[in-house]
Amino acid sequence: MNNIERISEWLLSANAIVILTGAGMGVDSGLASFRGKDGRWGNLEASEDKSIFEISNPKELAKNPKSGWKMLANRLIEYTFTQPHSGFEILQKWIKKFNLDYFILTSNVDNQFQKAGFDAKKTRELHGSLFHLQCSVPCNKNIWEHNIDLKTIINDIENEKFPTCPSCGNMSRPNVYMFRDATYIANRSKEQEKEFQVFLENNSNKNLLVFEIGSGPHVQSIRKKTRMLGIHHNAKIVRINPNDFKIKAPHIAIDKGALEALQEIDKSVNILGT
Ligand SMILES: [Zn+2]
Repeated sequence: MNNIERISEWLLSANAIVILTGAGMGVDSGLASFRGKDGRWGNLEASEDKSIFEISNPKELAKNPKSGWKMLANRLIEYTFTQPHSGFEILQKWIKKFNLDYFILTSNVDNQFQKAGFDAKKTRELHGSLFHLQCSVPCNKNIWEHNIDLKTIINDIENEKFPTCPSCGNMSRPNVYMFRDATYIANRSKEQEKEFQVFLENNSNKNLLVFEIGSGPHVQSIRKKTRMLGIHHNAKIVRINPNDFKIKAPHIAIDKGALEALQEIDKSVNILGT
């Protein structure tokens, strides 16, 4: 039995799956991964190997809101008009077909799982969401869904008209956890983490299968969760990553991109599952 067939068997006997994703998950939708060889944002907007959140930290945003907000707005526009690739559909199909409980943990701030139709209540965004805003001061702990007009935002920013906090009128900022970030409001993250803990309680002593997709070793927030699930919840782990794929048996590594790997597993599932 090869690895793909073994994963299919794991899927058939699983009760629940945890999907952990990093920037690599978005590559097949046309989104850039920050740090990979093709890290477009890194190359365009900063020196090598820096993500938007490293350049665009709260201090920088306050000092230079024009360039900071322009980057953020361009990202928001890109994510809004991106169509999630069919790997998202494959995951949804498995969840339905095998009647699986599920939870998503992602370091991406791009709203793609919600856009693909996954339950927002079953999603933990470890670095926050670009689609939610908070006060930059902050004057209170409110977090709200962005109401930015994407047609006018770039022009508005050019004219130094930035999104503001409805409570105090100061500039707002995305509820994204940036580097050197002392003003991030964590209420939404804490709520999501609570939901994840409930999921783990509900699925203790059950067959838990983990798909870690497109998250490299530099994003420790994801890999830590993967390790935790393997050690404390006896989960079987499938690591999908074209570059940093190593993982110890009995877990399985697939050295491919997200979509290609999911399609291959799906083919095998279709043969075994019928
Ligand atoms: Zn405010």
